[in-house]
Amino acid sequence: MVVQGKQGGEATEAFDVVVVGAGFAGLYMLCRLRKLGLKAVVIEAGDGVGGTWYWNRYPGARCDVPSFEYSYSFDPEIEQEWNWTERYAAQPEILAYIEHVAERHDLLRDIRFSTRVTAAAYDEPTGRWMVETSMGGRLDCRHLVLAVGPLSSPAIPKIEGLNEFAGDVVHTGRWPKEGIDVRGRRVAVIGTGSSGIQVAPELAKQAGRLYLLQRTPAYSVPSRNRPLTEAEVADLKARYPAIRARAQANRSAISFEVGEQGALEVDEATRRAIYEQRWRDGGLAFAGAFSDIFEDVEANGTAGAFVREKILETVRDPETGRKLLPDTLIGCKRLCVDNGYFEMFNRDNVELVDLRERPLERVTTNGLVVGGEDIPLDAIVLATGFDAITGAHLRIDIRGRGGQNLKDKWRDGPKTYLGIGIAGFPNMFLVSGPGSPAGLANMVTLGEQNVDWIAHCMATLDTRGIREIEAEPQAEDEWVAHVNAVADTSIYPLANSWYIGANVPGKPRVFMPYLDYPAYKARCQQVADSGFPGFRLVADHQAA
Ligand code: FAD
Ligand code: NAP
Repeated sequence: MVVQGKQGGEATEAFDVVVVGAGFAGLYMLCRLRKLGLKAVVIEAGDGVGGTWYWNRYPGARCDVPSFEYSYSFDPEIEQEWNWTERYAAQPEILAYIEHVAERHDLLRDIRFSTRVTAAAYDEPTGRWMVETSMGGRLDCRHLVLAVGPLSSPAIPKIEGLNEFAGDVVHTGRWPKEGIDVRGRRVAVIGTGSSGIQVAPELAKQAGRLYLLQRTPAYSVPSRNRPLTEAEVADLKARYPAIRARAQANRSAISFEVGEQGALEVDEATRRAIYEQRWRDGGLAFAGAFSDIFEDVEANGTAGAFVREKILETVRDPETGRKLLPDTLIGCKRLCVDNGYFEMFNRDNVELVDLRERPLERVTTNGLVVGGEDIPLDAIVLATGFDAITGAHLRIDIRGRGGQNLKDKWRDGPKTYLGIGIAGFPNMFLVSGPGSPAGLANMVTLGEQNVDWIAHCMATLDTRGIREIEAEPQAEDEWVAHVNAVADTSIYPLANSWYIGANVPGKPRVFMPYLDYPAYKARCQQVADSGFPGFRLVADHQAA
């Protein structure tokens, strides 16, 4: 490592690239940078690799994209040597997989763990980024890659008295490695998104009493998770290229079939039979039953009505069943995929607390108060989600050209070009940023696509003697408008989802993800193939 000298009393180390984050995306970025012969370092706040799968260790955490697809495609040897044991792998298995990839590619030696990037500033005269970390010292680099994760900044709700609670308070996205002991204890889970729906049934198996605090009832479909047989694994491995190719052509970058017909184009009996089949098969493919579920409110309503019926069939107590019925559009907040969520309410030790009828007033030292009633507790689990898509970026003090702060730039909502570049922030790249299909597509696939694009871009800059690349403001404005125009062809923006920033009080309401992975990928490819239109390129000899 080159130590350039001392600045302000602190050592400054020089790199070609600093990557922030050692999740799926950051690790693959490091692989690609090594292949380009660039000197790179990855900075990671956690003390191990894995990102999402390092932090979200709660019981029940597992992927909702089939394991075989929720994995890297860049290394066919790893595809063949890794044996997924379940249709939807649990967190320990996904983490073990990521650790395996990191070891196989000898990545650990270039990662600094337990280190947080706190600030980054672009130095115009030198055309380099100066990165500061929680460990002190500075990293000076030509390119800065933010692989900080779209769902890595936990959203902790402001509930009066939360800090005074005497028992355990734990967010699903910061689950302690040693776990929490809920055996025979009284536990509240706040939140009914994917995390709450996964964690609650597992905790209920051990807790003395579990209270599920629901503000908005959620749609959830059964995963039908099960072990994969040896024969299935062999068959899936043999078909890997075809599975990957099919996924690349799907809006969600997942290989399931999307129905060609609209939900209202078929008669009632056919529609029901199709939903029944998808329900039996399990997983996110349910929402692909018909072509127009995300385009037409009425079509969407048929899927929602079907799930509501299933909830009432599953939950034995009619009053609890009624309270669990969602009345929103299905899938426009990410559809949850569960392992016995609605069945959980048939247990004697589980109670649904409907916060619409009994508002959450405050936390006390011994529990919480809802609708004027005390609920004594030993542990509170916050399954309250994340400051999604932009949260992790904005927790870093990032200053671009002219000292402009990213927080100011994004005050009214995030702006990017292709979800990758930002005007005013040269040589800085985002992976799975706002304006990419983050959250709406298989995120491992999207991460790989973004990383490949960035690596190709860096290689091209070097070949062409380009010192600086920066999104042009007009291209950025057009991209943001395009992302919104595409979103408006769907009914997604009608929901109060984290896609639109609705889950974080005060966050600007802007629909952030790009809806269509294949179209997105094609556009990125076209930009790369045509010499990066929409980006301002400054050659070495032009630089001041
Ligand atoms: P992350 O895995 O989030 O990694 C980012 C890393 O950056 C983190 O380790 C973080 O500590 C680090 N970091 C952030 N800021 C800093 C900083 N300032 N300094 C240092 N380090 C920093 N997506 C799917 O497609 N399918 C699924 O089935 C699926 N399941 C999920 C389940 C859960 C419980 C959650 C929370 C998300 C899930 N997701 C899923 C989304 C998931 O986040 C992505 O699939 C994927 O793991 C993101 O990888 P990443 O590398 O981009 O980001
Ligand atoms: P989420 O979907 O944002 O859900 C958060 C839940 O907490 C919501 O039910 C929300 O209620 C509730 N909540 C937030 N603040 C609250 C408050 N102050 N009082 C009461 N309730 C409150 O977050 P998540 O469940 O962590 O999931 C986030 C994303 O991560 C998912 O959409 C998915 O992409 C990914 N994920 C995937 C899986 C998987 O299955 N593989 C598992 C976990 C996470 P409202 O709806 O009323 O706001």
